[in-house]
Amino acid sequence: MEYVIGSGPAGMACAAALLARGRDVTMLDAGLTLEPGHAALRSAMAAQVPEHWTAEQHAMRRMKLGAEMPEFKLSHGSDYPYRAAPGAPSLALEVPGVAASYALGGLSNVWGAAMLPYRAADMAGWPVGMEAMADAYRHVLSLVPMAGQADALEADWPFYVRPRADMPLSRQAVALLKHFERAKIPGVVAGRARLAVRAAECIACGECLNGCPRELIISARHRLPALRQAGMHYIPGVVVRGVAEDADGVMIHALTPEGGRVFAGERVFVAAGVYGSTALMLRSLGLARAEILDSQYFTLPLLGLKAAKGVMQERLHTLAQLFVEIEDAAVEARNVHLQLYGYSDVLEAMIARKLGPLKGLRALLLARALVVQGYLHSDVSGRLEARLEGEGMRVTARRNPATREVLKRVVRKIGQMKLGARPLAPLLHETLPGRGYHSGGSFPMREAPGVGETDDMGRPYGRVRTHIVDSSVFPTVPAATITLSVMANAWRIGFES
Ligand SMILES: Cc1cc2nc3c(=O)[nH]c(=O)nc-3n(C[C@H](O)[C@H](O)[C@H](O)COP(=O)(O)OP(=O)(O)OC[C@H]3O[C@@H](n4cnc5c(N)ncnc54)[C@H](O)[C@@H]3O)c2cc1C
Repeated sequence: MEYVIGSGPAGMACAAALLARGRDVTMLDAGLTLEPGHAALRSAMAAQVPEHWTAEQHAMRRMKLGAEMPEFKLSHGSDYPYRAAPGAPSLALEVPGVAASYALGGLSNVWGAAMLPYRAADMAGWPVGMEAMADAYRHVLSLVPMAGQADALEADWPFYVRPRADMPLSRQAVALLKHFERAKIPGVVAGRARLAVRAAECIACGECLNGCPRELIISARHRLPALRQAGMHYIPGVVVRGVAEDADGVMIHALTPEGGRVFAGERVFVAAGVYGSTALMLRSLGLARAEILDSQYFTLPLLGLKAAKGVMQERLHTLAQLFVEIEDAAVEARNVHLQLYGYSDVLEAMIARKLGPLKGLRALLLARALVVQGYLHSDVSGRLEARLEGEGMRVTARRNPATREVLKRVVRKIGQMKLGARPLAPLLHETLPGRGYHSGGSFPMREAPGVGETDDMGRPYGRVRTHIVDSSVFPTVPAATITLSVMANAWRIGFES
């Protein structure tokens, strides 16, 4: 028996690859699920047309706002994707708005579904060839539907599997995309956001950021029935506390609702998410600390010079509208990835909050407001330090002094794009490392791994039957979105190891 720990994107992709090779697979998972009350709210909304949704239903789903951004993105009003499972070791994460997931489907229950593959240049220094990753992208994208359309991004960022449908663009985004196509800005490539959404069924109700009532945003959770049908056993309610191995096999020490239990098998694939896997493997390997890399996340509001008509009435989706890639050595040696967002109920609430007594002006601002969410390569980003502390783990963040200068150049570059919208530089928000959830690299894959590192199959130094398959094994964290590559790498290890 091969065991996979975790049911997030990494676990599901790895399990699919193992099953494709005819292996016997059991998935062990903490496996928290949406509470019945919130599930009932979702089903009720799915059964109605948006015009019949009530103010009360909307209010139950709204996220709590922090000073600069929402505290936690919720799933149909619930924070269950961030909640600790009973028996889980304590995790002191000193970055507000960040938590590990113990949910069925992990953090993909709340993710933004943005997907862009890494290129060979992004994986410089990885002991993994582009050919193997390209093959894995093809397999993963045959399982995960991706909305998108041929555009300028395609030359450098192939689709691997051609999308069958696309999401409707907002009027603001259409105008911006036309500008990019006409202006041909040096060092900038822009196109439509690629999103893991069943786009053909989207009714553009604008509820994406609170959880799609129709479940059209892909979660790893949706894959479970197919994997079970292919023969996988799924055991929820299991919190794994340690993994050991000897010449005969692996022993997985876990806490179940019935008490402690040891699962014995041939191999184990650890996909507990970067914090879950780091804590588990530090403890299992007798190590005290690890450094976690991060792709620096920042937000920057843009103010349009002209008002867009009817943004608050427009039927639109509220995920990323456009991807903008900055490939300009004068800004940063590596790619900078930007996602552009237009109107959403969250933006409306944030603006109303900032305006305070002047909130009557919000319609005026919303017609001009856009938000950039951007990411940098881990080489110019802050880092996190994970340290075992008793039974648990403490994670602290450390900024990189280089980040601020890079961000200044990025803001200047955005200004030079002449988007018809001015970047509001004083409102640039450089989050703490980890806040963008594009983190990994605590057990980096190396050509010749040493203590605390892994080989190209995610096997920690000294282990032959234990594979770490989530972002914990990334040698760097490039700026492009992380999860598609997490899935591809997990698939590759499951299929090739
Ligand atoms: C708000 C938000 C938006 C995001 N948007 C995007 C985006 O647009 N694009 C993108 O690429 N990425 C995005 N991400 C990041 C993305 O969600 C993660 O990269 C992805 O979920 C990681 O997958 P994973 O399988 O490695 O881990 P997770 O999704 O964290 O899953 C971990 C799994 O392990 C299980 N587990 C953990 N510990 C144990 C244990 N001890 N025993 C048993 N089971 C355990 C959990 O139950 C869970 O099933 C976003 C994240 C957030 C929070």
